[in-house]
Amino acid sequence: MKLIMLGPPGVGKGTQAQQLSKEFGIPQISTGDILRDAIQKKTVLGEKANTFMSKGELVPDEVMLGIIQETLFSEHAPEGYILDGFPRTIAQAEGLQNLFEEHNDALNAVLSLEADENQIVRRLSSRRTCRNCNALYNLLTMPPKIEGKCDLCSGNLYQRDDDRIETIQNRLRVYKQQTEPLIGFYKSLGVLKSINASGAPEEVQKNIKRQLED
Ligand code: AMP
Repeated sequence: MKLIMLGPPGVGKGTQAQQLSKEFGIPQISTGDILRDAIQKKTVLGEKANTFMSKGELVPDEVMLGIIQETLFSEHAPEGYILDGFPRTIAQAEGLQNLFEEHNDALNAVLSLEADENQIVRRLSSRRTCRNCNALYNLLTMPPKIEGKCDLCSGNLYQRDDDRIETIQNRLRVYKQQTEPLIGFYKSLGVLKSINASGAPEEVQKNIKRQLED
């Protein structure tokens, strides 16, 4: 199964992808996590990516396509996966389609998660992430059992730098301009599935499963 999670930042792509990953036994591949990991390890990629990420801007397409080619089309690539946070521009989506064609491969579905903007801003500003295992929490809807600690590994929870209100506004602007056009792109390929993502995480998961069974 090869899936893409599409939708604005904060709509719940990561939470849903983590759930689907457990369910189907395939990895969640989050380009945001790959970049944050590179920043923490202070690699050349990390230093380059940080200049864009800290402002809520997109990392250049050729850098992202390089990461995707290495992760999904090398010898060690997984058989199935859930892509979370890629593609984010038409150029990335076209690059990915070209890679699929070259490798005689294809996507199963693109899940387009939809919710209203006020809800998204609220979710993003109350999101917390585990420093150790990247598990996601929300202080309002999915709080950890012990404040500041991950339920799964007891790692420390932190607020991402780009989840602060000024950066959130910019990320939403960037999403509208550069990523939203992908809905039309994948609709025309016949793989788009629209998901109502305004409910609780378990409800959204049910909506996704229903759509995948259709
Ligand atoms: P995310 O964790 O998916 O919200 O991504 C956090 C940040 O990483 C984004 O705001 C971008 O700066 C960068 N990023 C992640 N994925 C991509 C991508 N596919 N293209 C460009 N930038 C990306």
